[in-house]
Amino acid sequence: MNDINQAFRLDGKVALVTGGARGIGAEIAKALAQAGAAIFLTDVLEQVGVDTVAAIQKAGGKAQFFRHDVTDEAQWEAATAAAVKAFGKLDILINNAGIETAALLVNCTVEDFRRVLDVNVTGVFLGVKHAMRTMAPPAGKGGVIINMSSVAGLIGTTGHAAYHTSKGAVRLLTKAAAIECAQLGTGIRVNSVHPAIVATEMGTNFIQHFVDLGLAPDYATAEGAIKAMHPIGRFGEPADVANGVLYLASDAAKWVTGTELVLDGGFTAA
Ligand code: NAD
Repeated sequence: MNDINQAFRLDGKVALVTGGARGIGAEIAKALAQAGAAIFLTDVLEQVGVDTVAAIQKAGGKAQFFRHDVTDEAQWEAATAAAVKAFGKLDILINNAGIETAALLVNCTVEDFRRVLDVNVTGVFLGVKHAMRTMAPPAGKGGVIINMSSVAGLIGTTGHAAYHTSKGAVRLLTKAAAIECAQLGTGIRVNSVHPAIVATEMGTNFIQHFVDLGLAPDYATAEGAIKAMHPIGRFGEPADVANGVLYLASDAAKWVTGTELVLDGGFTAA
């Protein structure tokens, strides 16, 4: 019989969360820890990351911080090896670290475009590659990879072409990895998550960009217009995303791979 109380639990699992110091990543790390997973939390923000780990430990969870820039392959090798050394194995990778930039296309510099693709796409590619090496037999026993895309990977908006390009790439990188992992019999599931605007530092910056680009007269007007694009009537909370990630990470989703979980208050349904 399907045991619902166990299906969403992660007891005995080990999860690596990138960009876990703050925002959505920190909330995901806290949720997975509450569900029983040991958290290997990585970020370039050291003190904030250490503080988030301390908060997880204070709540009774298991967690460790590791400084890790997702654009650097040697640092991925070090991070996956350190996670296995710390907790014995790796079961779950949350490729959450990401950045955005705002510019009208005619003003977007090649440097800014490349930087966004480097963190958001190359960072996810390297994560998938090194998680597969660590999780696939004979090194591991399978696992779960969850890549943070966005509604920006499904639709376009003015002023964010680099970000849309990157999140669209994450969507199809996820499907390619899911098929490859399944066909090679690795026991690894790979899925993407697509939130609309979530109340974090990045969410606030995204709204401010519409003012900076001359598309809205002030922050309050931009906020009202963008909020109105979410039929549920509010922006997302990090926990709205963390709950969906927990489902995909758990055995409740053991038949789910290559899919895109849209968590957007109705944004893309309208
Ligand atoms: P955030 O800016 O609050 O957090 C992002 C984290 O990623 C930070 O801790 C940052 O230090 C880390 N990071 C950035 N570059 C890194 C690098 N090179 N290596 C390692 N860590 C790095 O943003 P957030 O809102 O929590 O976003 C988390 C993820 O969710 C991102 O991938 C973002 O694109 C995606 N997302 C956010 C929203 C939103 O509205 N906030 C919506 C959809 C998708």
